[in-house]
Amino acid sequence: MSTERSELLRNLPAVSEILERPGVASLVNLHGRPVVLHAVRAVIETARARLLEEKESLTSVELKEIIGDEVVAAAVAGRLRPGLRRVINATGVVLHTNLGRAPLAPEAVAAVAAAGGGYAALEVDMETGGRGRRERYVADLVCELLDCEAATVVNNGAAAVVLVLQVLASGKEVPVSRGELVEIGGGFRVPEVMAGSGCRLVEVGTTNRTTIADYARAAGPSTAAILKVHRSNFDIVGFTQAATIGDLSTLAKKLEVPLIHDLGSGLFSEALAEGLLAQEMTPRRSLKEGCSVVCFSGDKLLGGPQSGIVAGTKKIVDELSRHPMMRVFRCDKLTLAALEATLRLYRDGRTDAVPIIQMLRASEEDLHGYAKRISTHLEHKKVKARVIPVTDAVGGGSAPLVSLHGVGVEVDHPRPERLAARLRVGDPGVMAVLREGRVRLHMRTIGEYEVDALSAAVARAARC
Ligand SMILES: *Cc1c(COP(=O)(O)O)cnc(C)c1O
Repeated sequence: MSTERSELLRNLPAVSEILERPGVASLVNLHGRPVVLHAVRAVIETARARLLEEKESLTSVELKEIIGDEVVAAAVAGRLRPGLRRVINATGVVLHTNLGRAPLAPEAVAAVAAAGGGYAALEVDMETGGRGRRERYVADLVCELLDCEAATVVNNGAAAVVLVLQVLASGKEVPVSRGELVEIGGGFRVPEVMAGSGCRLVEVGTTNRTTIADYARAAGPSTAAILKVHRSNFDIVGFTQAATIGDLSTLAKKLEVPLIHDLGSGLFSEALAEGLLAQEMTPRRSLKEGCSVVCFSGDKLLGGPQSGIVAGTKKIVDELSRHPMMRVFRCDKLTLAALEATLRLYRDGRTDAVPIIQMLRASEEDLHGYAKRISTHLEHKKVKARVIPVTDAVGGGSAPLVSLHGVGVEVDHPRPERLAARLRVGDPGVMAVLREGRVRLHMRTIGEYEVDALSAAVARAARC
């Protein structure tokens, strides 16, 4: 480290020193000490990090600037803005994990508001006045929709897999194909999840080919279950083979152990299962073909809130419900309200009211209409923009090979990075795509009600 740099580090002002500056003291008067104090600490931390980054050589003048009153004021303003804000997703990635995956249907939002804004019939049977299981409404709907005996729900898909493995196979062996030892993202790696659940992973077959005979050879007296994992976010092509659910089910029955399917996504839409996502295994089909129990997320292709659903035989679901870990993984009333309302849409034949289903099925004409409205508005505001074809994605680690023909608006701006940054911090926040030195807005992930707000946001941001 250069001597000048260490000199600057040593001379970083103390928090108290900055708080006493007149420009900062007035912020304390206006907003109270705690928020300004934490903003000042963050500003100093950022300055320290930039000094430590050898790449950047800061002069003492620049240092004064990055801890100046204006920077502190911006940091305070940032803290005063609501953090978990609504964002317009102009990325074309439908299940955008970093933007909260599936947006909820208006019916689900209303159910959350009703259950959250008051008391709710969570664990009371309102007819008898006795106790009821909190997940019973969701479970009944899942059973109707998947034609299965029983179901339960926990906080997310990962928790569903952990619970099932822990309850059914703790201390025992579980064979899994080497081609399915996947990492889903966010640290969810099948071998580690299995170890965390206390069961022993027995690797079976090879990366590209695993036969039913491989499973049969690996099975023994300590085998507690067979696990099948959906590859979700990648595929293996070429010289490949995998045991079918039917064959695995026959083997599991012979061994008298359950066949568990970690499906990842829970595709309920028949229209998508018969069309665009025909390659995607559905929970209903997996159970029909012989799995004892399936686990999947509530907020991937199902289009509901973050949650994890387990569906299958009554014997297994009862065992899960009785287990102490169920108490650890259980959902709150807001999640259950949103999930119940989402499932009701499927049950009542109103699948297209689920936003992500609508987005995935949107026609190019619809999307073109939005794009035209936005580009016309921008032209009017003297911002150069044009309608272009784009490629959208399902996202959320689902159907990685499916690319969707979409429509976008490409915006010209001398400083595209700056435009994208301004869009992010604006109100509403907008996530756009930077591509080939231009800012692109994908129409598929935009709601009709967001079109005007998005046009206005881009026009505002582009002017600066
Ligand atoms: C996404 C996924 C999970 C984890 O589900 P979360 O709801 O994200 O916790 C588990 N298994 C598979 C195969 C997945 O695709």
